[in-house]
Amino acid sequence: MKLLMAANWKMFKKLDEAALYSKELAKLARNLPPDREVALFAPFTSLRVCADNLGGSVALGGQNCYPAAEGAFTGEISPGMLLDCGCSHVLVGHSERRAILGENDAFIGKKCAFALSAGLQVLLCIGESLEERDKGLLRAVLERQLGEDLAAVPETASAQNLSVAYEPVWAIGTGRVAGAPDILEAHALIRAFLERRFPDRGKMMRILYGGSVKPENVAEIIALDNVNGVLVGGASLQIDGFSRIVRAPVA
Ligand code: PEP
Repeated sequence: MKLLMAANWKMFKKLDEAALYSKELAKLARNLPPDREVALFAPFTSLRVCADNLGGSVALGGQNCYPAAEGAFTGEISPGMLLDCGCSHVLVGHSERRAILGENDAFIGKKCAFALSAGLQVLLCIGESLEERDKGLLRAVLERQLGEDLAAVPETASAQNLSVAYEPVWAIGTGRVAGAPDILEAHALIRAFLERRFPDRGKMMRILYGGSVKPENVAEIIALDNVNGVLVGGASLQIDGFSRIVRAPVA
């Protein structure tokens, strides 16, 4: 399984910046290490220009979608609209959407199932808060999120179409990266859940780590068991930094 090195721009970059970056990213994609794939999760307004510049060399995804084909859902974007803009992927359940936009697991579960059935590859984000971790609730939180978020996903979902990003909330945008033992423990829990839930496929589903990944720490992270890539926010905003992350050797 190739490592997936994914950039999440969050709410950054206007069209001119997105155009410049995606042209550079397309050049980078022409010369990737053989064990790597790259994905870019861009704001809706930049997707089309990124799709044109990337020309399929990098997987492109939206950062959110609404679980309906169309309708009176002002301000929302459907999976079909993402596909129409050249996307193959979508992020679901990012902790910023859970915490700031009030998304709960029931709604995230609808999004996962609907986006998959519409033909998008889903990267489901889960992770515990510091308070939950300190109370010893890591396993309970991860299993609750996985259970509810994937409740309506068929057992036959393909390993290619469903990936999970473990993003401890206390490590996102804080500069505080989770230590190797923390990552190993959480990823092993997630792997065990996926293997139970998707008996034939769970072992092949990617589990990405996200939370203050940088050029300086990525080599150690991608060397860990059950780490099949990284989801990078802040450090993906400059193409030079993201390029160093994408090319980092495995430690
Ligand atoms: C993210 O946005 O998914 C993320 C992990 O952000 P950062 O790399 O900035 O912590």
